[in-house]
Amino acid sequence: MHQDIEEILVSEQEILEISKSMGAHISKDYAGKTPILVGLLKGCIPFMASLVKYIDIPAQMEFMAVSSYHGGISSSGDVKIKYDLETSVNGRDVVIVEDIVDTGATLSTITKLLLHRGAKSVKVATLLDKPAGRKVEFVPDYIGKTIPKKFVVGFGLDYEELYRNLPYVGVLKPSVYQK
Ligand code: 5GP
Repeated sequence: MHQDIEEILVSEQEILEISKSMGAHISKDYAGKTPILVGLLKGCIPFMASLVKYIDIPAQMEFMAVSSYHGGISSSGDVKIKYDLETSVNGRDVVIVEDIVDTGATLSTITKLLLHRGAKSVKVATLLDKPAGRKVEFVPDYIGKTIPKKFVVGFGLDYEELYRNLPYVGVLKPSVYQK
């Protein structure tokens, strides 16, 4: 698995530092409130687990599964809900937790949907931001690290459902997806 990685972009240590500072930031911004953290499956799992350890206010954890990538290396831009929330967001403060924002299609669609469902506020916390990939205007509220327009895997991010379990984020060797 590690031999398929060309370059490490975000190390395990750096992800820990990001989780601590973002967790502190969210705790401060939502002091006195009980936000719902909405993780977008499956990519959010490692980052959600890491981040929540450093959120020291009461917070609910919920999940949704959406798809736009279909296993390959480019987004279709067409967002589908595969698994929906089992709780109401009406009147609640929501923080969507995501692995990466690329075209912006997923987050702008889901943000609008949750506001339409009556959420009081919706903010987005993402481990990675790839602003050069934007097709839809979208600015995340909490960004762990801004990265160049490269296809990355690890710490939740997959290539054909593999590499999510890497403890860091890295660039996949093109030879892997050119096979
Ligand atoms: P967007 O809708 O912003 O284009 O894409 C968001 C989703 O696309 C992410 O949740 C992630 O699943 C996928 N994605 C975007 N860029 C990458 C990437 O570099 N690597 C991987 N593995 N997935 C990505």
